[in-house]
Amino acid sequence: MNKQFVVVLGPAGSGKTTLTASFGKWVEENQGFEVGYVNLDPGAEDLPYEPDFDVRSIVRVRDVMREYGLGPNGAFIRSADLMVERLNDVIGGVASVEADYVIVDTPGQMELFVFRDSGPGIISRLRGLGFPMAVVVFDPSLARRPVDVAALKLMTTVVQLRLEVDSIPVLNKADLPGSEDIAKVLEDPEALMEALRSEKGVAADLAQSIMAVLGEYRQATRLVRVSALTGEGMEELYDVLHEVYCTCGDLT
Ligand code: GDP
Repeated sequence: MNKQFVVVLGPAGSGKTTLTASFGKWVEENQGFEVGYVNLDPGAEDLPYEPDFDVRSIVRVRDVMREYGLGPNGAFIRSADLMVERLNDVIGGVASVEADYVIVDTPGQMELFVFRDSGPGIISRLRGLGFPMAVVVFDPSLARRPVDVAALKLMTTVVQLRLEVDSIPVLNKADLPGSEDIAKVLEDPEALMEALRSEKGVAADLAQSIMAVLGEYRQATRLVRVSALTGEGMEELYDVLHEVYCTCGDLT
């Protein structure tokens, strides 16, 4: 079996770390796999899971602040670049995780991983170790209007473009009010178009044009709605990842 890497990405506060812990536990308990946990967030403080490899053993934001005399923002950027400079050590650490199902938690600020070199560099090296897939997590507070929903779809596509991996959009915090309505619009491209058409303004027009183009190119990956807190939707997330893996990743 080809090793699977589930790389959890998303805006700060969307629930990446909580989902890493709860989805991993669900897979262990319900699929009988041994699950490996990797933390790639050099700024993490307390983690709700026990990492088998922790990038903080190589780069830690707190130490970078002190060593280079930087403030928090500068230290996060420097840390992301240090992860690239020490890529062999980082990949060596990830490779030492023995499990076949590995969940990879990424920096709180997703732009550090997606737009600097660290994310693309790490993902391309993971391909040498197994099959990486991205889970792009967002939460209902980021999708209040139809144009926000369009922006989230675009964000998932940007991740796919930058990292060149299949990316599965996941709406977390399903336990919060409003999540079901957002999921409906996210799942159904026609419903989203209709909602955008009923909005006035340049942003809604632009979003319609972008969604029309994305509709032509994006493979139909269905949205998964989960709650990292209550455990709702974990089986569906597992199934969608398994489908992607079976279609593209199980080369053995
Ligand atoms: P990260 O920055 O993306 O890693 O987000 P965290 O995992 O640290 O979560 C940010 C906040 O969202 C924390 O207060 C979590 O308890 C909360 N959170 C995470 N998942 C859920 C969820 O499914 N439902 C609710 N209501 N809160 C959640």
